[in-house]
Amino acid sequence: MNQQTNIRSTADYQAMDAAHHWHPFSDMADLNRKGSRVISSAQGVWLTDTDGNRFIDGMSGLWCVNVGYGREEIVEAVARQLRDLPYYNTFFQCTHPAAAEFAEALANVAPPQMNRVFFTNSGSESNDTVFRLARVYWDCLGKPSKKIFIGRKNGYHGSTATATSMGGMAAMHGQSGLPFNGFAHIDQPYWYGEGRPEGLSPEEFGKLRAKQLEAKIDELGEENVCAFIAEPIQGAGGVIIPPESYWPEIQRICNEREILLITDEVICGFGRTGSWWGAETYGVTPDLMPIAKGMTSGYQPMGGVFISDKVAGPVMEKAGEFYHGYTYSGHPAACAAGLASLRILQEEKLVERVRDVLAPRMAKLWAGLADHPLVGETRTRGFLGAIELVKNKETGERFDGDLGVGGMARDLSVGKHGLVMRAVGDTMIASPPYVMTEEELDEMAARARATLDDLA
Ligand code: PLP
Repeated sequence: MNQQTNIRSTADYQAMDAAHHWHPFSDMADLNRKGSRVISSAQGVWLTDTDGNRFIDGMSGLWCVNVGYGREEIVEAVARQLRDLPYYNTFFQCTHPAAAEFAEALANVAPPQMNRVFFTNSGSESNDTVFRLARVYWDCLGKPSKKIFIGRKNGYHGSTATATSMGGMAAMHGQSGLPFNGFAHIDQPYWYGEGRPEGLSPEEFGKLRAKQLEAKIDELGEENVCAFIAEPIQGAGGVIIPPESYWPEIQRICNEREILLITDEVICGFGRTGSWWGAETYGVTPDLMPIAKGMTSGYQPMGGVFISDKVAGPVMEKAGEFYHGYTYSGHPAACAAGLASLRILQEEKLVERVRDVLAPRMAKLWAGLADHPLVGETRTRGFLGAIELVKNKETGERFDGDLGVGGMARDLSVGKHGLVMRAVGDTMIASPPYVMTEEELDEMAARARATLDDLA
């Protein structure tokens, strides 16, 4: 147990929390009735709460702790950095060794067309940066009318007002009168969720969904469209893995039309899909790539944007100052954490481990769950997995929030079987740390099945 922070009882923490802590993405009245689970320490892939219960973290926190918990190398690197230089800015012609080194290390693993990174503090800020930079790019090319961003329904790009507008989460839009003007959305390539449309193979479906981009560009006028942004695999939307036909068609359209292609790599980046970038997995060449999460494995808050030479060139030549940045852009401690995390990924060959060991094993285990009476479909790609829950296996009828089965599944899994997965509606999703052993992965699948048995 963590002696340093865990000095009061669970009930005390819950009471303090209920009285004063407003949680992100939470129904606070409901949460305060139930009481928060208080996680106080973690090691490897295991979380421990203040009552001493242990859970397999099937979500790497929020898709970020890719190198696992308790990595002393990162802790040491951050502590050393805080002693040497806890803070200095990267504005006004200043830098520091950690920012310079991390930028170079990132460029070395980035796709070949990307040689520069702009540092932010989160994925949301990365997408706000993308929004401003892409518009400046077209201004520099003498095409200031190209302002509209096309995203996807049910896509997630963060929670600031701009990132919410880019994303396509209806509930988020509805609550605050978004999206802003200047954003449009096409349908997602969600074969299962769209009822497996009759007469269409997944590949035909994927291609049709991609072609919506072409139609949307025509509708809005190519001269008004700035960029298309999408997650290589939609994460928060429910681990929606596109048919193989989807991305090549998107790339074709972006090549033929004059718009920027942006792959949001906040989840897919740093090895999650079995190669360094989701774009690499799907063979596409983006112009901008927002990153975060796995960038520091969650040991420090950080995000960034990889900028292609194509975009950097005209902006550096013509825009003069880019009036954009954050006090903590390139924060020394975050850079130190990022460097240490990147070294672990490289030295322990964890991206290769995802590709060669974890992804095939997860695919097999997830396929093994598909025979369960409550499971309509399972799918995986890299070290991402989804289980679609259905009320009726024969008809494919969904729970559609009935009994909040997703929430129930989550409560059961967290409470009883010591496994944390996330529920998105009726879809249970997983994104475990890359250091998970094969035995732990088998155990995770067994616990997922036990949870499903409880629901059946
Ligand atoms: N983009 C994607 C694809 C994400 O999944 C997320 C967060 O889950 C974000 C952006 C926003 O990142 P952050 O929560 O760090 O602002």
